[in-house]
Amino acid sequence: MLPSEPALRGFMRRLREIMADPGDGQARLDRIVRQISGLMVAEVCSIYLKRQDGSLELFATEGLRPSAVHDTRLKRGEGLVGRCAELVQSINEPDAHAHPAFSFRPETGEEIYQSLLAVPIQRGGDLLGVLVVQNKSRKEYSDEDTEILQTAAMVVAEHLVSGAVAGAHNAIEFSKSASVVIKGEAISEGIALGHVVLHEPRIVVTKLLSDDPAGELKRLEAAIRELRVSLDDMLEHENLSAAGEHREVLDAYRMFAHDKGWERRLNEAVSSGLTAEAAVERVQNSTRARMLRQNDPYWRERQRDFDDLSDRLLRTLVGRANGGTAPSELPNDTILVARTMGPAELLDYDRTKLRALVIEDGSGQSHVAIVAKALGLAAVGQAKGVVERVSALDAAVVDAESGEVHLRPSGEVIAAYSDKARFRAKRQKQYEALRDTPAITRDGVRISLQMNAGLLVDMPHLAESGADGVGLFRTELQFMLSQTFPRLERQIKAYRSVLSEACGKPVVFRALDIGGDKSLPYLRRPEEENPALGWRAIRMSLDRPALFRTQVRAFLRAAAGRDLRIMVPMVSAAHEMDAVRVLVDKEVALLLHRGYEKPRSLRLGAMVEVPSLLYELDQLMPKVDFVSVGSNDLMQFMFAADRGNALVSRRFDPLSPAPLRALKMLVKAAKKHKIPLNLCGEMAGRPLDAMALIGLGFRAISMAPASIGPVKTMILALDANDVAAFLEDMMQKNVTHIRDELKRFAEKSGIEV
Ligand code: PEP
Ligand code: MG
Repeated sequence: MLPSEPALRGFMRRLREIMADPGDGQARLDRIVRQISGLMVAEVCSIYLKRQDGSLELFATEGLRPSAVHDTRLKRGEGLVGRCAELVQSINEPDAHAHPAFSFRPETGEEIYQSLLAVPIQRGGDLLGVLVVQNKSRKEYSDEDTEILQTAAMVVAEHLVSGAVAGAHNAIEFSKSASVVIKGEAISEGIALGHVVLHEPRIVVTKLLSDDPAGELKRLEAAIRELRVSLDDMLEHENLSAAGEHREVLDAYRMFAHDKGWERRLNEAVSSGLTAEAAVERVQNSTRARMLRQNDPYWRERQRDFDDLSDRLLRTLVGRANGGTAPSELPNDTILVARTMGPAELLDYDRTKLRALVIEDGSGQSHVAIVAKALGLAAVGQAKGVVERVSALDAAVVDAESGEVHLRPSGEVIAAYSDKARFRAKRQKQYEALRDTPAITRDGVRISLQMNAGLLVDMPHLAESGADGVGLFRTELQFMLSQTFPRLERQIKAYRSVLSEACGKPVVFRALDIGGDKSLPYLRRPEEENPALGWRAIRMSLDRPALFRTQVRAFLRAAAGRDLRIMVPMVSAAHEMDAVRVLVDKEVALLLHRGYEKPRSLRLGAMVEVPSLLYELDQLMPKVDFVSVGSNDLMQFMFAADRGNALVSRRFDPLSPAPLRALKMLVKAAKKHKIPLNLCGEMAGRPLDAMALIGLGFRAISMAPASIGPVKTMILALDANDVAAFLEDMMQKNVTHIRDELKRFAEKSGIEV
């Protein structure tokens, strides 16, 4: 039976009175369960609280035997109540006895109760316990029943964290302060100790019950209005109005934001006596529970959108509509935790205060990882569930070697990691000492170690790391960070500064590599089903030469009197380089015509990152001045495994026969045509992979600045002829696990990898 509106209001009022009553916390819990069982016409209402060992203890009951209170303990996951706690989901069972998970506890006298409704008691993402109602008759509880119980669970949670309930305190303190280790994947190496800042932090609702429902209704209305306007603005913004995935998400937002049912439920929740914030949280919880019950993946997807929207409404209500943490509030040892993040968002933070990044998605080749590396941050991706399990300013240790994130670590863990961090710093000093030592193998082979960069802030690393030059300057980063299209003068200034900061060391500018996962907020693009294989990089440049020509003009003007190297990404056919050269020549002619000084030299290179080009090397080489392998893309296309999708990006190893044969082919072709060859994908920065590249015949590689020291250390201990012979043998024998063999080789030869 549904409680009437006045009954619900009366219930909320009584809860408020109970909470305000001085007196024993346990007695209040007892009164709360009595009130709930009365309102819901349930014969039983019980509160189970989570203990330090994960078990659930019966803390209060109306209907079960009073002697069972503090006596009945359910092991972790035991029974339907334990299941509710494990899944952190409500459970609605008309015939609880028949459920395989049902656990019978004779001391409670519960055998006569057939139906059961259990909801988790949560606070700020922590599970505190379970609230249960039971009935003798067989019945399925309605969605409204679930909502009432969820509201009551929020009140109970509030009561518990106030510390009023003796004995519960321990359990709650524990759940809020427990150490947790989350295993993810290291996406930018490093060790960091610091304090958590949540990117777009979840708002923790602290005030649940209101004394002024009319005032709360007004606040809610205003916030909904503001939310709708901001979404409409966003949608109408010309950069977002093009079709695409983001558009669908925003349309879903808008659909929910304008949903009358949602508004009605929010209003009802506020009318029942909740604050506007608590109403949003309650409706969010019950909607989530309803959506999770749907097996349809469409609805599961929508649930995420709806969660985002509810979070946004909460932020609007508390006046933090733009999310984020004010720069002044950022601790000096910030560990940034996010569900997902783009490279530009990361750069929004004050990098002098950032130590590490932890994200729930993301792989090592994602652009946020590349930026994290450039900033020297330790970063862990695939840290599932991390956002739910942290609170702002929690202490944390990020081990971006093993991929572990320690939340609220113990003193011993902190001490161990402080030692590790000190050790790393010492290693760093050793690497620094090698800065001016040339990278020459034991048998006298000189390897050119270059660094990858993308922003002016990267350039000081050139001197610090002792790199021989910039083997890859990703020019699109400047474009990605800009709010508008960088005009010619701005580009000239940027490239000129890069060349000046390089102090004569060579710099390879890569022409705009836009498209795929690299999008410009101000550039309208057609919707593409398969953007990685779509209209991107050189394909765009050849179809829309104005963009490319402006960039070439900027390169030429910036490099007046100096050496200029331009590299073209995503070349798929040799003849594309002819078309590129025509455009470049036109710009050179224009430069001279206008009387500007020419660069001292101009070299035009191609990236080999599309497998088709491997079969046209004899045609390509005569058309270029140098070649550089983009192994990130080459591997993704060769194995048809999305580099940004962690489910597949690690599935195939670059150190396996097929890619190694391809790379060998390239080395041979470059040698034959006497064309300089480089490799600038992430594999160049991993000492073991770099060792294999040297074995294949690569003599120049380009990597993140932090990798130069470890790779150089490897080279100084390496015999290039030995590794070449070893690798040749492995490839001849078609050994599948070449990585393991190379590891053994390194170990035997005393090479640190
Ligand atoms: C690559 O693909 O290996 C590469 C260096 O380019 P990006 O990672 O920028 O695509
Ligand atoms: Mg690439």
